[in-house]
Amino acid sequence: MNSNQTDKIRPNSWIASVPMYQPGKPIEETARELGFTDIAEIVKVASNENEFGPAPSAIKAMKDNAELMHRYPDGGCFYLKERLSKHLEVTPEHLILGNGSNELIEFLGHCYLNSDTNLVMSEYAFVVYRLTAALFQSQAIVVPAKDYGHDLEKMLEAITPETRMVAICNPNNPTGTLLSSDEINHFLDRLPSHVLAVFDEAYIEFVDKSLQSDLISRIKAGAKNILLLRTFSKAYGLAGLRVGYAVAHPELIELLNHVRQPFNVNAMAQAAAIAALDDQDFIQMLKEANRSGLEFFYQNIPTGIEYIPSSANFIMVKTGDATKHFIELQKKKIIIRPMAGYGLPEWIRITIGTEEQNRRVLAALAELS
Ligand SMILES: *Cc1c(COP(=O)(O)O)cnc(C)c1O
Repeated sequence: MNSNQTDKIRPNSWIASVPMYQPGKPIEETARELGFTDIAEIVKVASNENEFGPAPSAIKAMKDNAELMHRYPDGGCFYLKERLSKHLEVTPEHLILGNGSNELIEFLGHCYLNSDTNLVMSEYAFVVYRLTAALFQSQAIVVPAKDYGHDLEKMLEAITPETRMVAICNPNNPTGTLLSSDEINHFLDRLPSHVLAVFDEAYIEFVDKSLQSDLISRIKAGAKNILLLRTFSKAYGLAGLRVGYAVAHPELIELLNHVRQPFNVNAMAQAAAIAALDDQDFIQMLKEANRSGLEFFYQNIPTGIEYIPSSANFIMVKTGDATKHFIELQKKKIIIRPMAGYGLPEWIRITIGTEEQNRRVLAALAELS
């Protein structure tokens, strides 16, 4: 036997053609490539991270828990579920934690997607849904956007008997658009009973309460066709720890637990997330900083450059040749995300950062060729 003949070990036929997610480059990598030595000078506003860092309470919790890391985590996330259930006013049985909300999207794939089923999503929406469909040999039915946001009417029309899930990102990444609760209620009232509505609310903390759709009340009232996805990666500033959660009917949560690895959320993440939830003043501060940062962008984006008003912590701006501008901005030590991969080659997405970062980005936008 020749052990070098690895081509004899045949992978599942569809795996090699599953597209891979293209993340924003780490700061260190950009610095290396461009020969910059001082990483602190680089403004990375490419991944919608929280530029203010984790809440001080979360940093303290991480330090306090460092010496316990020889232990496996609590796979059931008992204390984090308890803390979250208070925060959201649901029971712990309504919750499941994931290694980032991305892992929960994969759980949904395990449960509902295969070559006989499909998922409905919007154009210009978070690509992970498309990748997950491919991973499970399922079809992603991509519905054209309306004013860069979700066209819920067309999404309803696109549903087939084989549809298992419809994914709605609200606010949407990368466009920053928000659906009103009237639009969502009207949609849910007509959603066929064989389809699960997955609401990805990764940026919900940046939205005023009065503009949020109250999907948790529907779930508490017994709806089994709604699942909310949220994360600690954005407003809570814990992207590096990987922790997200789903809120849904306990029967649905129980199903998802069947595909969960025993220790999917690490112990540091659990400790930090609990502490971060305790610091709602920090979230409030961030929300206000984000609001004024967005206003600053609206007022100072050079005239003639189009942008989409945003409900999240980023803004999409039409600079023209985004791929070229990505490189131009990089030379000024600014990393943004060009949107060609989303079918928007003229647009870039910029995370709202600190005042100083916002100023630097706007000054650089004014100098684009
Ligand atoms: C950033 C983001 C997430 C978060 O993913 P995590 O795995 O929790 O870091 C989820 N959905 C959308 C739409 C996002 O933009």
